[in-house]
Amino acid sequence: MTAFGMHLSVAGGLPKAVTRAIELGCDGFQVFARNPRSMRAKPLEPEQVAAFRHAREEAGMWPVVVHVNYLVNVATPKEELYDLSCDVLGDELARAQAIGADIVVMHPGHHLGTGIDEAITRVAAAIDRAYEQSDSQVTLCIENMAGAGTEVGRTFAELKQIIDSCRHGDLLGVCFDTCHAFAAGYDVATPEGLDATLDEISSTVGLQRVKMVHANDAMGTLGSGKDRHHNIGKGNIGLRGFTEILSRPAMARLPFILETPVNSPEDQERDLAAIRSCVP
Ligand SMILES: [Zn+2]
Ligand SMILES: [Zn+2]
Repeated sequence: MTAFGMHLSVAGGLPKAVTRAIELGCDGFQVFARNPRSMRAKPLEPEQVAAFRHAREEAGMWPVVVHVNYLVNVATPKEELYDLSCDVLGDELARAQAIGADIVVMHPGHHLGTGIDEAITRVAAAIDRAYEQSDSQVTLCIENMAGAGTEVGRTFAELKQIIDSCRHGDLLGVCFDTCHAFAAGYDVATPEGLDATLDEISSTVGLQRVKMVHANDAMGTLGSGKDRHHNIGKGNIGLRGFTEILSRPAMARLPFILETPVNSPEDQERDLAAIRSCVP
């Protein structure tokens, strides 16, 4: 049985995310463990951590995923931002370990013109540094990206290069974002395109490295490079695309976490029902 969940707000404190997940009928969920719009953060409160762990356990939620702050850029050649990004990444790993999260998801970042190879060396060094600083054992999944501008991680070959360059490669996985893949030119909306995508994953990072799916429909067209998430069934992947994806055993064994737009509270319930309706 595929586990389904979504990115949820921690407004009102971390344990509130568990309450929301229960209300929505999620199997698991994703949260930010720090303010996503700032590089500064208050430490986690021990009572909140304990309450979160307890509530999560009680509810049997799996997986719990922490998404790294969007301002982190470990591909940047700017030294100050790079050092700060390494520290924040280390802190995210430490927080994830503290709250009992199963997975941390990160973006490889933007190289700002220095080229992919140099950037990959920086990303790998940052991951090693973050693990050594945090002493965390939580799995870190690197997300495939739409490839806009100088974004690193548009292809699975790039993700493999990052993993192979890390000393902590055994702790690393891949988060497969369907919207990003489609925007990057992987036609996951058709059976043939999905076959080709899964073949490419197999021959690069390997299917075993993929630990989770970000199930997002795509507003942009195939290969547009546009990272615009759409509600399930309303974009260019569509219900047929997600039904095809969920018909593949290599995908259906993974947790599916939605990061779809929430314009009204019903959107979350609707999207969750829509993705579940795609189970063949
Ligand atoms: Zn992401
Ligand atoms: Zn994503």
